[in-house]
Amino acid sequence: MSYIEPAPIKDKENPFESMMARFRVAAEILGLDNETYEVLKSPAKQVIVSLPVTMDSGQKKVFTGFRVIHSNVLGPSKGGIRFAEDVSLDEVKALAAWMTWKCAVVDIPYGGAKGGVICNPRQMSAGEIERLMRAYTSAMIDVIGPDQDIPAPDMGTGPREMAWMMDEYSNAMGKTINAVVTGKPLVLGGSLGRVEATGRGVMVTALTAMQKMKMNPVNATCAVQGFGNVGSFAASLLEERGLKICAISDHTGAWWNEKGIDIAKALEHRQKNNGVLAGFTGGDLIDNEQLLQSKVDVLVPAAVEDVITVHNADKIQAKLIVEGANGPTSASADSIIYDKGIVVVPDILANAGGVTVSYFEWVQNRLGYKWTAERVNRRSDRIMNTAFENVYATAKKHNISLRLAAYVVSIGKVAETYKFRGRF
Ligand code: NAD
Repeated sequence: MSYIEPAPIKDKENPFESMMARFRVAAEILGLDNETYEVLKSPAKQVIVSLPVTMDSGQKKVFTGFRVIHSNVLGPSKGGIRFAEDVSLDEVKALAAWMTWKCAVVDIPYGGAKGGVICNPRQMSAGEIERLMRAYTSAMIDVIGPDQDIPAPDMGTGPREMAWMMDEYSNAMGKTINAVVTGKPLVLGGSLGRVEATGRGVMVTALTAMQKMKMNPVNATCAVQGFGNVGSFAASLLEERGLKICAISDHTGAWWNEKGIDIAKALEHRQKNNGVLAGFTGGDLIDNEQLLQSKVDVLVPAAVEDVITVHNADKIQAKLIVEGANGPTSASADSIIYDKGIVVVPDILANAGGVTVSYFEWVQNRLGYKWTAERVNRRSDRIMNTAFENVYATAKKHNISLRLAAYVVSIGKVAETYKFRGRF
């Protein structure tokens, strides 16, 4: 059987289909047997629950919740919980698989999972969200656990929801068990360094890639798409390391400054301006498409999926792309980018700093101890560097892109572990 199929060329690609397309190619390179391929493709467990919640009006509303454990081969499964109106079982299944590869590529002892609840948290009161989160936790009480499956925030959820989840779980168990979720507020056992962890990992992998490419950070220019958690920390840490950040953006627009944008000023502007860059005067207003195609050395897409596609891939001028976002490049754009000689640090590697520090949060909770930010950063930098070197060596060995190499490393690791553990 051949897993290599031409990547479909569509106007808009589903990022998860893109991921599966790369999974198939990596499986082929590894010479994975058909049985193992089928096992790794299929989620280990899928749970669907109905959650009756009393709304502020006094009426009951029934919500649907999902938890998918894609794999627990490497250890307890890990993955966020998404509160969104359009979340579906299919999407959660794909995101859970993504988590498996991400944890494996940075070599942390976790499998992959994801959860979701169909709801619109923006139209719900804090009390309604709390009751929904507690109902979800209660319904999943046998699924989650610090040795089993460890949720975290995702779209529509954050530290507040994790605190409720931890409390509900702890009440049911009769003792405080803070290691059941990560992404908690600091006072409840959250980790120092978690907020900036993903952006920091982007910076670390970007610098390591630049070193391999013999690019000097001090002479390099950079554009960062997205100025949220990942983009803003990536921009400010890359600036700190000497790169000139010539363009930044968010959903309200993009800004270009050949002399370099002052990231501290942009952060200050965002702070005073309801969290958005609109009205920023530290550069000329351009649009997000121009940012992607701008003449810079390093491009960091850190906003949304599917922004580099067959429609603009041949116009990208950067020499290095570091994927802060999940799925910013569609599978059919891969070969165009590769043929142009652009190096891509793929999402499952570049943005794995977040899950790495989530793992540290769990480790600290289990130790009953708190690490300093310095220790967290040092250890996560080491993990990110080791992962990069491993992926880089694999890419060289097979003469493939870093993206395919990242899949080869992670799928190979899960497959090997599965074979050692093998059941049935
Ligand atoms: P965020 O909500 O904090 O920020 C998103 C940013 O993107 C905002 O500045 C927003 O204005 C901007 N944006 C939204 N739509 C845009 C568009 N069409 N064009 C340009 N900019 C747009 O989100 P985040 O946590 O920074 O996540 C960004 C990406 O990184 C997502 O793909 C997410 O899945 C991924 N990611 C995040 C983490 C993490 O720890 N936060 C970890 C791994 C991956």
